[in-house]
Amino acid sequence: MMDAEKESMSEPFEKYRPWTRNQLAELADKHPEFSEVLSDVQMASRVFPFRLSAHVIDNLIRWNDLEEDPFFHLLIPTMDMLEERHREALREVCLGGDESKISSVVNSIRSDLNPHPAGQMTLNTPEGEDHLNGVQHKYPETVLLFPSAGQTCHAYCTYCFRWAQFIGDSDLRFAQKEAEYFFSYLQKHEEITDVLVTGGDPMVMRTKMLQKYLEPFCDSEFLPHINTIRFGSRALTFWPKRFTEGEDSNELLAMFRRLISAGRHVAFMAHIGHPRELESPTFKKAVKRIQRTGAVIRSQAPLIAGFNDSADLWAQKWRKEVNLGIVPYYMFIARDTGAQQYFKVPLSDAFEIYQEAVSNVTGLARTVRGPSMSCGPGKVAIDGISEIDGVKAFVLRFIQCREPELVGRPFFTKFDEHASWFDELEPIDGQVLPWDSNGRLKLPSPLLRDE
Ligand code: SF4
Repeated sequence: MMDAEKESMSEPFEKYRPWTRNQLAELADKHPEFSEVLSDVQMASRVFPFRLSAHVIDNLIRWNDLEEDPFFHLLIPTMDMLEERHREALREVCLGGDESKISSVVNSIRSDLNPHPAGQMTLNTPEGEDHLNGVQHKYPETVLLFPSAGQTCHAYCTYCFRWAQFIGDSDLRFAQKEAEYFFSYLQKHEEITDVLVTGGDPMVMRTKMLQKYLEPFCDSEFLPHINTIRFGSRALTFWPKRFTEGEDSNELLAMFRRLISAGRHVAFMAHIGHPRELESPTFKKAVKRIQRTGAVIRSQAPLIAGFNDSADLWAQKWRKEVNLGIVPYYMFIARDTGAQQYFKVPLSDAFEIYQEAVSNVTGLARTVRGPSMSCGPGKVAIDGISEIDGVKAFVLRFIQCREPELVGRPFFTKFDEHASWFDELEPIDGQVLPWDSNGRLKLPSPLLRDE
């Protein structure tokens, strides 16, 4: 056992305990400033999922300045996140106090909030593999695995596009007993090189549960075409003790080492949205412990109004990440779901923020890609704002695409200063968008100038 592991086991172990909607009053006792917004949050959290960890309560939210605090906006649902008509309907029915009427209004508001964006429920499930519920195969080389025990997070971001999972309105779960089906699917698809274990957050799972899916990959002979195991997680900043405390964390890191010894690349895709997340000593210790296994941490996050919509914040974040040995990887555009009206940043502003931030960091931080939209056809980056045949235009590019031959090729749409998502963009006159309303690409696109 390595020294760091011994040291970790000798420290007192704090078990994760979620703070949920039922503990809102307790939270107001702990932080009296919160009492002022308590009833508002109680109402809004009927629609949006709510969960905090002790780490975000104690390290990230600044309770003495809630109105201006980015983490308050990130983590605590308020009525401002709803459109006027939804706010009024919810207030009225809550005043009445009839639980069945409240739940009917709540359900109708939720269904208006596009709970399943980018066809994630239907488009990405492997064809003819109905028993593989909880597996998505969107791009040839990568499959996503959603273990059933990993469909929550240590805390919930209010803008999250997976919010429908947290309120039980989704069956995007992969039961552990189905692991054998998953392995045989991988065996049939030698084009797959990467397995992305995601959620929710797979790091909410006990290591023993994760091992049921991943331990076989610790043998280099097992499915040797799988080169990379990626984990999509926000635990590093929402519950870093997952990697620093207790035997379970040591077992997790030992599994990373075994995977790496078997020749797999372990990529820890850390969701980090704000430089404040990089400050706590526990976070820094967790980063070191993961890196010591040989795993590489890459960072990614969406651009969110009221949270991180500033070029300076992004530049600071990327600089600090490079300093900690974390590779800046993606800036995303917030998806068209949930309270998107509240959080969205217009694409033109997103491009300017990215451009300014990236021009203020060294080459080592320019590994970051974006701003990028994960939409039906693939991941689309905004590469620039230009003029095409006298028309102001967005210059776009598929970073990833269902049609691999379209990856990396630029295309153009009319500039629209209000557009905040791909569907809102219009082709330049005479050109046709290359996908249909189901997000499937039609033909090689006349939008592509080099064809
Ligand atoms: S941590 Fe990720 S999956 Fe979990 S609520 Fe936040 S954005 Fe969603």
